[in-house]
Amino acid sequence: MHTYKEVIDECLKLKKKDVDVEEIGLSRHRNKILMTSVGKGDKRVLIVCRQHGNEPTSTEAMLEYVREIQNPTTKEHRHVKEKTKLYIIPIANPDGAKIFEHLCRKNKTSLLTSYAARSNRLYRGDINRDHKKRKTTEAQAIYNTVKRIQPHLIIDLHNFYPAYRYFILQKTFHDFCPAFSAHPKIKPEIQKTCYKLCETAINAVRKAGGKPAKINGLWPGMNGRMLAVNEGVLETYYPLYHNVPSLTLEALGGFNLCSRGIERGKKLHKAAVHAILDSLII
Ligand SMILES: [Zn+2]
Repeated sequence: MHTYKEVIDECLKLKKKDVDVEEIGLSRHRNKILMTSVGKGDKRVLIVCRQHGNEPTSTEAMLEYVREIQNPTTKEHRHVKEKTKLYIIPIANPDGAKIFEHLCRKNKTSLLTSYAARSNRLYRGDINRDHKKRKTTEAQAIYNTVKRIQPHLIIDLHNFYPAYRYFILQKTFHDFCPAFSAHPKIKPEIQKTCYKLCETAINAVRKAGGKPAKINGLWPGMNGRMLAVNEGVLETYYPLYHNVPSLTLEALGGFNLCSRGIERGKKLHKAAVHAILDSLII
């Protein structure tokens, strides 16, 4: 798992290889929030990694993916580069990522302590509930970026806690779940687009050897996702108030696992994102 500092260094290396890298804002503790952009197309896609500091597989997946698109070796990667413009925020929550790093280095992660690193300060400041009010500088940075680049699609990448399957779901094991907002006021055509892209993600994950849950399938009426939709969550706010289709792709990893199992979540995040981008250009 890259540390926050290593991610910044990676971005600077990418800059030398003609990837655009810019600072889009500062975190609560004044750590830089960077964004890389790659591709020459006119379909603009914003990929947000790691709003929750303890969910690292997206950062790993997208750092690798930027390089693959910059130097494409397959026909599909070349197509993505030609047809899309990808904007990737590798760490949207640097403060949380740094707390997580510290806990993992000290070997002090339990479910509870790793949860501390979800936010931009210990147990408080969940960026992914703040997109409507935007009290956090991190949510402001994402908002300003969306206003400026006007993406056609936003993909928000997360991890879920491995033991959910034991004490909540108590059913078939899953390692991936795509989701989009069920808010009744989101335009039907936007929801339809989200649904289709989630299906694409599921197929790609299956092909990559993963075991995807159904769309929105990990959260049967939980956390306000289905029953009382929270308008501060990215996947609801941007489709509802800005008409931008937005998906959440959750893979297994992070939390008390730290770096363990990170390869699997990384692989699934990458497979799903790539299939979605590839399908946008057909
Ligand atoms: Zn999350």
